[in-house]
Amino acid sequence: MSNFYHSTRNDNNSVTSKQAILTGIAPDGGLFVSDAVGQKKLDLATVCAGSYHDVARLVLGTLLPDYTAEEIAACVAGAYGPKFDTTEVTPVSPLGQDWLLELYHGPTCAFKDVALQMLPRLMSVARKTAGDGRNVMIVTATSGDTGKAALDGFADVEGTGVTVFYPAGKVSDIQRLQMVTQRGANVAVCGIRGNFDDAQTEVKHIFADADLAQRLLGQNVVLSSANSINVGRLVPQVTYYFYAYARLVAAGAVKLGEAIDFCVPTGNFGDVLAGYYAKRMGLPVGKLVVASNANNVLTDFITTGTYDRQRPFVKTISPSMDILVSSNLERLLYYLSGGDCELVASYMRDLAEKGRYTVSPAILERLQQTFACGFADDDATRATIRATWQEEGKLIDTHTAVAKNVLDAFPRQGRARVCLSTASPFKFSADVLDALGHGMPGADGFACMDKLSQLTGIPAPKPLFELRELPERHLDVCDRDQMGAFVESACARVF
Ligand SMILES: *Cc1c(COP(=O)(O)O)cnc(C)c1O
Repeated sequence: MSNFYHSTRNDNNSVTSKQAILTGIAPDGGLFVSDAVGQKKLDLATVCAGSYHDVARLVLGTLLPDYTAEEIAACVAGAYGPKFDTTEVTPVSPLGQDWLLELYHGPTCAFKDVALQMLPRLMSVARKTAGDGRNVMIVTATSGDTGKAALDGFADVEGTGVTVFYPAGKVSDIQRLQMVTQRGANVAVCGIRGNFDDAQTEVKHIFADADLAQRLLGQNVVLSSANSINVGRLVPQVTYYFYAYARLVAAGAVKLGEAIDFCVPTGNFGDVLAGYYAKRMGLPVGKLVVASNANNVLTDFITTGTYDRQRPFVKTISPSMDILVSSNLERLLYYLSGGDCELVASYMRDLAEKGRYTVSPAILERLQQTFACGFADDDATRATIRATWQEEGKLIDTHTAVAKNVLDAFPRQGRARVCLSTASPFKFSADVLDALGHGMPGADGFACMDKLSQLTGIPAPKPLFELRELPERHLDVCDRDQMGAFVESACARVF
């Protein structure tokens, strides 16, 4: 029981969940999975009687069995406290005939907070109780959203530091300010001259640099990543599927035990995979609808069984979903194949070598039993933002609008339906204004935010509004070949 997790590509070497969280990725390149997910069903009546914190403790305790109840309770209390603007953490509100699960009430106003406020705490406990006492420096390249959520999550967490690289001049005004104003004695932020791929590629080189690793070890520091494939990011997301169900039962929209559908704006497949975990753990789920933007590689996969990454990359107004390789899908393939590590490894080899793979008919059938799919391009996304505001009085962001558009086209099957809302519309004010027919080309981020507030009568969330008053603390910009040295100097300063 204690060695709960093993690689999707090899089930010989099991590790505890603390080790899985500290390591991030399995040594063979696979993702950590557990065969026990779903062996123990959660009791729905208990879930429905609980607060968000109660449900989180139940879910985390089940999926991370080597953490003590006290450790889990401390992590939950620390992660989901006053940094969220509601004690409900992820409230549910009506959306026409459907429901909106609001995942953007955390400090950076996007759903990644739900996981990234928790992961650093899980890591910190694991470091103290199962680690080797080394300090951990998280290194991340970001195209905008993940970097800030990681900075806010890891800021001042004992024994950890966080270094974020973003492409200078290629993130929005607000996204840049969110990062460069970050407080905390253990944080470092640097713009790089280049694009996101340059930053990402160089971060991979930094992780592979044996000399650097040796020097850092001399200072008792190891590097790690806060990537969405870490089980410590996946597990906290399972909570809100159960919590949403409890809210629908409380609202009288479903009877205990009746199935409901979820529609999820998807990029790396982490969010929707958490819904699949919830289903395995006993949540009555009808369909999980995977919503994509114009980068619709998952729509094709779920429709045909062939995953083909060889296609043009499209830059859209829902940038956090601009992804052609959805890493977390590997975990689903593991479960759908009945735990066939060799088969999963062969699909991943095909993906790396040929850019594509095709799953067996049996796997495709199981996939389609639970998952449905659809996509919305930018024009459809804008039309949905406008219609949702005009007809339902709800202001939604560009990512949520992709899901709403797909859900609207999905046939109603007599079940209650929940649309996951992954970001505050004020995080993407310029594009939301544009969708409402009030675009302000060339205006800065705050002008757009103010205009959107004025137009809708909805105040911008405090963490975004107050950015204009915060000092800019992190002004470094470097070339790609200086990133390793930046990490090293950040480690020397922080630890
Ligand atoms: C990361 C992100 C997504 C995609 O989530 P995945 O877990 O990568 O599928 C959707 N919307 C927003 C706003 C995000 O930040």
